[in-house]
Amino acid sequence: MKIVFHKDYCRVYSSDPAAAPGRIEAILRELAGLEFVEPEPAGEGDVQLVHTQSHVSYVKGMPQVYEVALLAAGGAIKASEIALGGEPAFAVIRPPGHHASRDSCWGFCYFNNVAVSVEKLRVEGRIGKAVIVDIDLHYGDGTADIFAGVPEVIYHHVALGGAETFLSDLEEFLGSIRECDIVAVSAGFDRHREDWGGMLETEDYRRAAEIIKGFSEERCAGRRYAVLEGGYNHAVLGRSVRAFIEGFR
Ligand SMILES: [Zn+2]
Repeated sequence: MKIVFHKDYCRVYSSDPAAAPGRIEAILRELAGLEFVEPEPAGEGDVQLVHTQSHVSYVKGMPQVYEVALLAAGGAIKASEIALGGEPAFAVIRPPGHHASRDSCWGFCYFNNVAVSVEKLRVEGRIGKAVIVDIDLHYGDGTADIFAGVPEVIYHHVALGGAETFLSDLEEFLGSIRECDIVAVSAGFDRHREDWGGMLETEDYRRAAEIIKGFSEERCAGRRYAVLEGGYNHAVLGRSVRAFIEGFR
């Protein structure tokens, strides 16, 4: 298990809650003892795999954001490559990405990190089919937009509700998948009881990760990775990430 991380993710690049001071540090405090690897920034050509030139230019117009957004996409790419090599990975990155569509973005997102990483593996011919599981509170409209009409990439936002609804919907969805070469997780933690969603306990993240791990071992030789999306209560975010990683590794 590798943790993909770069110190520049601690930078405060805007005034939104995903960029809040101390948010990444709250996660890092819980990840002591794990093995960290540093990513390279994505190239402009990488983000152009899923975004229009006008969107890339829009983000480029915010130089501080552009730099860290490329680094976040690079973190997802790094995690995907580690996973493809047979080892699970979790990317502690920001800004998040699942509200970034081909030609627009909102919700604290700029480039769609998970989509860039999946599409890069696909265009390079290193995978055929991929599944993206989104456990964030919010629907990843950007990811859904990017892969609309692409039957090789299946996006699923796990049903909203308490632990029973959440875990059974996740199991049911994964049970419906026949072919898959890699599973990517948009790992947001804002459903937590003490976060915006008020739905899940910390332990539910461990159980979700165990289900995804089991699926990946059965269907795609264990190839799995997760990238950070939302999660805003610094008092519980780190423990949720830790619980997820313990179930995922
Ligand atoms: Zn969210």
